[in-house]
Amino acid sequence: MSVLAEIMEYNRNFVENKKYEEFRTTKYPDKGIVILTCMDTRLIELLPRAMNLRNGDAKIIKNAGAMVTHPFGSIMRSILVAVYELQAKEVFVVGHHDCGMTSLKPGSVLEKMKQSGISEDRIETLQHAGIELDKWLTGFNSVAESVKQTVYNIKKHPLFPPHSAVHGLVIHPETGKLDLVVKG
Ligand SMILES: [Zn+2]
Repeated sequence: MSVLAEIMEYNRNFVENKKYEEFRTTKYPDKGIVILTCMDTRLIELLPRAMNLRNGDAKIIKNAGAMVTHPFGSIMRSILVAVYELQAKEVFVVGHHDCGMTSLKPGSVLEKMKQSGISEDRIETLQHAGIELDKWLTGFNSVAESVKQTVYNIKKHPLFPPHSAVHGLVIHPETGKLDLVVKG
């Protein structure tokens, strides 16, 4: 059975048996927080458990590396929407050890793109158009430094409310232990 078919079958059962009832809540975060973290599979359940978060407690935004790299990209927009429209008062940036974005090599990603059928021409066209693929596909060396940078990028954003706190943390993907990097 394909993953899609498996999910659809499970879902029919989930809804029929009203398994959603224990998850009922509102769209407003009960703890007044928005979390930006990584899409890493090890954090799906571990992060909420390790931070004592239940359904409804927080807005959670995920991407590769828990980074805000563009001031007017969708991650920053999501944070601003959470703060201004959804009653989040504090932001938590939570990176993690052993992140896939640590030492991500643009050359290796571009090579895999070519192997999957993306032509050299197309990559060159994008580069000539001013898209800095090397920079765009670069991760970070130190997760703590990356978290600090992202906290700074949020805090200094021209549209971010000046009195809202932005904290920076690093979580261990096996034990769930949190280390505080920036106390906002
Ligand atoms: Zn990661």
